[in-house]
Amino acid sequence: MKTVSSLLDPSWQERYRRISNLNIRSSIYDVTNQCNLRCRGCFFFSSNEHRAAREEMDLQKWETFIDREKGRGVNLAILIGGEPTLYLDRVEAFYKRLPTYCATNGLIKIPRDRFPEMMVGISLWGSAEDEKVLRGRDTFALSSKQYAGDPYTYYLYTITPRQVGKIEPVIKRIAEVGLKVHFQLLSNDEHVDGFSWEAVELDALGREMDEMLERYPRTVISSKYYHQIITTGKMMGRPFGWNECPSVTESLDDREPPPRRLIHFIRWASDLKTVHRCCTSATRDCSTCKDGAAHMSWVMVNKREHIRTTEDLQNWIEVYEMFAKLYRFIPW
Ligand code: SF4
Ligand code: SF4
Repeated sequence: MKTVSSLLDPSWQERYRRISNLNIRSSIYDVTNQCNLRCRGCFFFSSNEHRAAREEMDLQKWETFIDREKGRGVNLAILIGGEPTLYLDRVEAFYKRLPTYCATNGLIKIPRDRFPEMMVGISLWGSAEDEKVLRGRDTFALSSKQYAGDPYTYYLYTITPRQVGKIEPVIKRIAEVGLKVHFQLLSNDEHVDGFSWEAVELDALGREMDEMLERYPRTVISSKYYHQIITTGKMMGRPFGWNECPSVTESLDDREPPPRRLIHFIRWASDLKTVHRCCTSATRDCSTCKDGAAHMSWVMVNKREHIRTTEDLQNWIEVYEMFAKLYRFIPW
């Protein structure tokens, strides 16, 4: 029988040991239904999730709710929205109680005196031109000034088909302002013309992301195995999709047979009562979903399948490390 120690040399065993005790239990929270942008292709607005529930305005209720979440075993709060920075008191309620990650479009600066070590992920949708088409403005121009050199901030770069062959200038700009970057791929939820993926583009993008990781190892937080999984949508010959997705809200998960999944994962709406189907849009077609976190988690929950060859297990470790870095469980 293959075992972890039979497949790994001492240095990889040490890396394995470092992550295997983390026991990450995440859930996702819509901090607000409002946003100061309206990006074309935003899963939140395109699926009307901003209308799914009335936002809870009472801060005390948020605090009580977060305490309950902590009691449920959550040890990573992933804050999304809408735009969480519109309600920093709610963000602070999480940050004071739980390891917290905050997604933002970067237009409002998160004050570091109030949130000294909170991991911040700034959404970026490509070049200035693409951002203007999809988001109505070049957000990088402002967010890069606000966060330059910040040790706990990275760009979550959503790559679109139009970006294939052109991602290096974006990485360079990020490297120049002393920040990190992680890749994910656009799922074209609003069917914007020219922004849906063709197989040939995904193939080219996989190679391009590998090259970027080699050329900018201190800036790009990623792994080649992740690139392979997200561009092919396959792991160990199995296709990603509803039957495999690990990021489905536990209370809504009636799949048979039950797949490996994130334990106790819930995505909460901002009324603190309603839950959404999964980590992304409830109306998205799972067969074309390119959500990066769901693909990463898919690898992570399938550890046993990777205890097969040294390369498989090392791939698994690298994806787990990447996740742990992105949510500040281990340093960059
Ligand atoms: S900034 Fe984020 S939440 Fe706001 S519209 Fe754009 S993608 Fe949606
Ligand atoms: S849309 Fe994506 S994240 Fe949501 S259930 Fe489907 S595959 Fe999973």
